[in-house]
Amino acid sequence: MYTALRLREYGGPKITIALLAKRSQRRSASRWAQGGMAAAIAPEDSPELHAEDTLKAGAGLCEPGAVEILTTGARAQIERLVQQYGVAFDRTATGDLALTLEAAHSRRRVLHAADATGKALIDALMEAVPSQSNLEIFAQAIAVDLDVRAGRCQGVWVWQEGERVHFGAKAVVLATGGAASAFAQSTNPPASTGDGLAIAWRGGGILRDIEFMQFHPTALAVAGAPRFLISEAVRGEGAHVIDARGDRFLLDYDPQGELAPRDRVSRAIFSHLQRTGDSVAYVDLRPIPVATIAHRFPNIARVCQEWHIDIYQQPIPITPAAHYGMGGIATDTWGATSLAGLYAIGEAASTGVHGANRLASNSLLECFVFGDRLAQRLVEAMPEGSSHPETLPPWRTVGAAPPCTAADVQNLLWQAAGIVRHGQTLQPALEQVQAWRGAHQPCLDPDNLALRNLLDVAALLLASALLRTESRGGHFRQDFPAADLAWAQHTLIQGDRLRKHPLNQPLPSGLT
Ligand SMILES: Cc1cc2nc3c(=O)[nH]c(=O)nc-3n(C[C@H](O)[C@H](O)[C@H](O)COP(=O)(O)OP(=O)(O)OC[C@H]3O[C@@H](n4cnc5c(N)ncnc54)[C@H](O)[C@@H]3O)c2cc1C
Repeated sequence: MYTALRLREYGGPKITIALLAKRSQRRSASRWAQGGMAAAIAPEDSPELHAEDTLKAGAGLCEPGAVEILTTGARAQIERLVQQYGVAFDRTATGDLALTLEAAHSRRRVLHAADATGKALIDALMEAVPSQSNLEIFAQAIAVDLDVRAGRCQGVWVWQEGERVHFGAKAVVLATGGAASAFAQSTNPPASTGDGLAIAWRGGGILRDIEFMQFHPTALAVAGAPRFLISEAVRGEGAHVIDARGDRFLLDYDPQGELAPRDRVSRAIFSHLQRTGDSVAYVDLRPIPVATIAHRFPNIARVCQEWHIDIYQQPIPITPAAHYGMGGIATDTWGATSLAGLYAIGEAASTGVHGANRLASNSLLECFVFGDRLAQRLVEAMPEGSSHPETLPPWRTVGAAPPCTAADVQNLLWQAAGIVRHGQTLQPALEQVQAWRGAHQPCLDPDNLALRNLLDVAALLLASALLRTESRGGHFRQDFPAADLAWAQHTLIQGDRLRKHPLNQPLPSGLT
């Protein structure tokens, strides 16, 4: 949405933009974002320090050029969001933008709007959309496959109200979000099952580093409740993680305790639960002053209350859950993919800023910094025109019964490619998914199409996780528990080709 608004701003109304959303734009990870958005705007902070923290969290796999663009570009985007789009970030008593601390940030640099930052951002942007001419939103329009002809992407095939519709386009931007809901335990909206990754891959695009999944350490763990996120910001403000006996155990696993990077906190909780046999751990907000809880975490308090947990009096039961995919559709730092006419942005993209593990609150920032750049690039170098295809893709309207359910795939992925992985579980899981894929017949039905994407994403993620015989960031292999210097490289997938790719090198146009 931000890319579309910026495109309108830079290119004027002569560019016609269609914004497709699987459901409504309100059902997105962006709108669910809680903790905030990182930007080095404090006097004692700098883009260089922000970059240092980002590179450290990324565990040797960030693209330094992309990180520099991210951290130096932050201030301008924040100014625009506040001044032009009216985003109401929280302020201090003196009127300055309020900044909080989050894990692995060396400075207080996370802007926020209470604990519903994503809602504040999306609602502000949504208000700007209706006033734009030639920018139309199509809700309930599911992108299914790219229209790739003569080696370039010329549009997209879309499921809309039971019909197959073709949107011809000079440029297609995949901004379909992440794939964390491909796992059974996930903090993401149900629709975040990686459609864009599957669509780009089937169209011949290159995916990068998709084995890296960030597991958020603290998702609400109450029977029947969704895995609602208990934001990292609560630990930044002083909450403790404790076990059923009240022990603050994280310090036994990591000297940074509650403020260690997410992957380390998630693994520590996972290991502790395995060791103790407990099913959940707890986040205890009681060390935080009551007034701070009320001011900073009203949404967490409200949702927990719905599940009969009073966060002022009781610790919150939590468990780790899949949260953010560091990899995605490989792009350069302008959002261009290896396929002419195809661009990607946001969590669906791999710009290189997150490496093997994302620094908290860098993903919203990435959407804005790189979304703005992509809009500039599209205006400067709008690709050739598109044409209408002469043949329709061979979609059936009725398919055979699916070989598995979405839940089967999600459970398998959680068990085989969750917080702790092992070749002996990854391999049979991949074989199972391949068997399901072989038996699945795509047809014009949203659930069937979603399952096809889920199976593709699961197969690609498992294959990448098997290939990377080391542990790094969000990818931990029990059979290869240490980082391996020889693996300080990206993984690229195109078609059935899977390769290592060195850092700091331009993307190839194809894998041989
Ligand atoms: C609970 C939660 C809290 C978070 N908190 C933070 C935070 O505090 N700070 C931070 O930086 N990051 C946070 N994140 C991560 C961040 O919100 C996301 O990475 C980011 O918002 C992704 O934005 P996006 O535009 O790429 O995807 P999304 O916001 O998920 O949007 C994707 C859109 O694509 C649509 N779509 C998907 N598939 C299709 C299809 N086939 N056809 C048509 N449309 C499709 C979806 O309907 C949706 O509208 C959080 C994530 C979650 C889930």
